[in-house]
Amino acid sequence: MGCSLMLVCLCFNFYIYPLLSSSSSSSASAAASASASATVSGLQSEVDSISGSLYPEILRDEAVSRLYQLGKVSDAEDYLERTFMSPAAVRAGYLIRIWMEDAGLRTWIDHMGNVHGRVDGLNPSSKALLIGSHLDTVVDAGFFDGSLGIVSAIAALKALRVGGTLGRLVRPVEVIAFSDEEGVRFQSTFIGSAAVAGILPDSALQYSDKSGATVQEVLQRNSLQATKENLHQLKYDPDSVWGYAEVHIEQGPVLERVGMPLGVVKGIAGQTRLKVTVRGSQGHAGTVPMSMRHDPMVAAAELIVLLENVCKHPEDFLSFDDHCKDSSVQSLSGSLVCTVGEISPWPSASNVIPGQVVFTVDIRAMDDMGREAVIYEFSSRMYQICDRRSVSCNLERKHNAGAVMCDPELSTQLKSAAHSALRKMTNELDSEVPVLMSGAGHDAMAISHLTKVGMIFVRCRGGISHSPKEHVLDDDVWAAGLAVLAFLETHM
Ligand SMILES: [Zn+2]
Repeated sequence: MGCSLMLVCLCFNFYIYPLLSSSSSSSASAAASASASATVSGLQSEVDSISGSLYPEILRDEAVSRLYQLGKVSDAEDYLERTFMSPAAVRAGYLIRIWMEDAGLRTWIDHMGNVHGRVDGLNPSSKALLIGSHLDTVVDAGFFDGSLGIVSAIAALKALRVGGTLGRLVRPVEVIAFSDEEGVRFQSTFIGSAAVAGILPDSALQYSDKSGATVQEVLQRNSLQATKENLHQLKYDPDSVWGYAEVHIEQGPVLERVGMPLGVVKGIAGQTRLKVTVRGSQGHAGTVPMSMRHDPMVAAAELIVLLENVCKHPEDFLSFDDHCKDSSVQSLSGSLVCTVGEISPWPSASNVIPGQVVFTVDIRAMDDMGREAVIYEFSSRMYQICDRRSVSCNLERKHNAGAVMCDPELSTQLKSAAHSALRKMTNELDSEVPVLMSGAGHDAMAISHLTKVGMIFVRCRGGISHSPKEHVLDDDVWAAGLAVLAFLETHM
C-alpha cells in the first residue's frame, strides 16, 4: 500500500515531466522524429497542444479558485455555513449561475431554489444527462463538500465550449446545484433533489426552522412561489432524463490510502437511526448500595458495547435462516458500520445515579435485509440485558432509508472516464480505478427514484470532511474535471 501511494504521488507531483519529455507520448515522439532543426518554439507549441486538451487553466486553476471563492460565501463571519435559502446560499446560487452562463449554459432557478444550467446540444428533445451536487453546507464546513461536484461539472462544460464542441453534444446536458442536501436548517435532507425526483412530500413546505419560518415562507421571501402545484411541476419526467452523474469528495480515507485521486461508487449505504431509552431507579450516589442499584447508565454502556460487537462480527451473531442468508452476512461484513454519537443521562449530575439514559444508534450497510437483521439481533439482546439489570428499555426507529446501488453500466463508463483522465495526467497509469461504497448519503440517493445514477469520488486529505480541515489537492480537482470532460466527450 505504502509503495503504491508513493508511486502515484510521485507521478502527480511531477506530471509535467512526461508531458515535456519528447519520448513519452506519440505526438511528442513525432516531434522528436522531425528534422534536427526543429526549433524550441516548435516543441513548445507541441507541448501547448497536448496541455491544451487537458485544460489546466479551466479544470484546475479556475476551478480551484472558484471553490475557494464559494468557500468564502458564508452566513457566518469566522466559518463556512450556508443553509437552505439563507442569504449566503442565495448569493452562492447567483455566483454559480454566472459561472454556468460563462460555460455557455442556459440558466434558471426553480421553485425550490435549485440552480439549473442546461445546454441542448444537437438533439434538444433527447433524454438529458443530469450532473449535480449540493450548494448548501453543514455548520463550520469545508470548501469541497457539494461545491466540488458543481464546480467540476461547470468546468468540464466550459472546456467543451472553449474547445468548440459544446453545441455538438448528442443529447442535452444539465448541471443542477441542489439547494439542500445537508438538511441543517429544516432537519430534513434532500429538499432540493427530492423535489426534482418527485419524492418530496407536500408536507415539506410546512417544515419549520428554529425561528419558526417554514420552507414555503423562506422561499417566498426570495420571490419563489412554492405552492403544492409548483412543487409537483418540479418533478422531472423520467422519460426526459438519460441518467444522473455526481462528483463528490470521498469524505473517507480509502482513496488516500490506496494512492488514487479518483474512485467510482458502487452504491450508497442504507441507514437506520434509532433512539434507545433506558429507565432505571434514580438515587443518591453515596447511599444506594451497589447490589441494590438499577442503574440505566451502566445498562446503556453494556448495550453500546453489545452494538459494537454485533457490528464488528455480524457473522458471530446473526442466525442463518430465511431472514438472513449467508450472502447477506458476507456482504454485511464489508459495509456495516454502527455508531452511538449522542448520549444524554438525566438528571446528569456527578452525585446522582441517573434515572434515565437516552442514546442514538446510527446503523449503515449496503445490504438492507442484513441491516434489518442487525437491528433485530441488537434489539432482542438489548431486552435480555435490560431484564437482567432490572431496567426498562425502549427502542424507537427515527429514520430509515434503503441502500441505493449505482447503475453498473453508467459506473463502468464513469470508471473508464476516470481512468482516461488519470492516464492523460500521468501518462503512465496502469492501476485500476478503485470501486468504493459510500457510507454517506448523497443527492444521487434521491435522484435514483427518477433515473439511473453513478458517482465519482475524489480523494480528500486524511479522509476529513464536514470540517474546515477538508482539503482536496489542486491536481485532484483537475482530475475530477478531466474525468467529467472525458465522460462527456465519450458518451454524450
Ligand atoms: Zn455532500
